[in-house]
Amino acid sequence: MAFGGSNQPFAPGPVLAVLDLPGGELEETGKGLLSEASRLAKKLDVAWSALCFSGFAPEVPEQCGAYGLTRLLVQPSSAEVTDAPDLQAALIALTARDQGAGVVLLPHNDLGHALAPLLAAQLDGPLYTEAVATARDHQGLKLMRRALGKRVQEAWFWNGQGTLVLTVNPQILSAALLPSMKRSVPEQVQLAGPTSAAPGKIRIIERIPPDPQTVDVSEAEVIFSAGLGCDQACFDQLLELCKLLNVSLGVTRPVYDLGWTGFERMVGQTGKTVAPRFYLALGISGSMHHIGGIKDSRRIISLNIDPKVPIFPNSDEGFVADLKAVMPLLLERVRAATGGVA
Ligand SMILES: Cc1cc2nc3c(=O)[nH]c(=O)nc-3n(C[C@H](O)[C@H](O)[C@H](O)COP(=O)(O)OP(=O)(O)OC[C@H]3O[C@@H](n4cnc5c(N)ncnc54)[C@H](O)[C@@H]3O)c2cc1C
Repeated sequence: MAFGGSNQPFAPGPVLAVLDLPGGELEETGKGLLSEASRLAKKLDVAWSALCFSGFAPEVPEQCGAYGLTRLLVQPSSAEVTDAPDLQAALIALTARDQGAGVVLLPHNDLGHALAPLLAAQLDGPLYTEAVATARDHQGLKLMRRALGKRVQEAWFWNGQGTLVLTVNPQILSAALLPSMKRSVPEQVQLAGPTSAAPGKIRIIERIPPDPQTVDVSEAEVIFSAGLGCDQACFDQLLELCKLLNVSLGVTRPVYDLGWTGFERMVGQTGKTVAPRFYLALGISGSMHHIGGIKDSRRIISLNIDPKVPIFPNSDEGFVADLKAVMPLLLERVRAATGGVA
């Protein structure tokens, strides 16, 4: 399916990456976005730059330079701007227009959720969210994402018309430095602040961090998962461990069938597809129905009493051990380290 209808040649403008700098730091998502922006610009054969709000750590420009960034556009920030997404979107849209941007790229995190639709409306351009891949095609830019509960891959084409607002699934962003990214010292361009004193209509009144105990397991960063190798005592210990370490709980289908959790905690083909930074598989054999749901995890560590189970070849590290012996010791150490306070 294609956005817009035009017989004009595909000749998009430059890529503008909107950098998320939580606490003023360039974290993995920001690095991944720079890397993605650089790759996308190469595919489209256009220039690229990045935009961020002021108040970042002094080392950030140099860190951005590692990804070949040559221009960092700095938008002055204030409490009035930080807490007003519509004002932020208006300022970014202004810069995107000034730069003649063809693509405005954002991570599909809280920043992208808040700004992308507002930006697309301001720029009167197409919006494509949560892309997992992009490819240059004779029709334009092919954009892909997972749809229908992540069971199918959907492809759209952007023909270069309007400014495309594109959010990228942070789980596919890789902060890896490629040889094609020539280190540079980016020029910092100070942009004008808001010209009108009018406050934004949308105000953020409080920021509440996600609770790992309730967050959707498909969005969890760290998951400790129980299989049938966990008996009731082990499962209770795991629940406490998850609470103490602020980690999300996952289970296999047989554990869900025991009625120990709700369906929303079940991981696998029938359950949720997950892609955490860290997946700990405890007493899980590693059937294809379970592995299918965890294969995008960055790091899988497993523990099983049987050295021959298929979870091991699907793990980054595996431990042959008895949960009955390991769990009490692990919990004891975590209780000591955390003071037993969740
Ligand atoms: C259509 C279909 C869809 C399915 N969808 C899903 C799905 O979405 N998610 C899912 O998980 N399953 C799903 N299943 C079920 C799946 O095929 C497996 O049966 C299931 O994943 C096995 O779960 P398990 O690893 O917890 O249990 P088991 O396969 O019984 O493994 C338990 C493991 O615990 C180990 N163990 C035992 N005692 C200890 C101990 N003391 N210490 C350490 N290790 C120990 C054993 O060695 C064993 O490897 C589906 C099946 C079908 C047919």
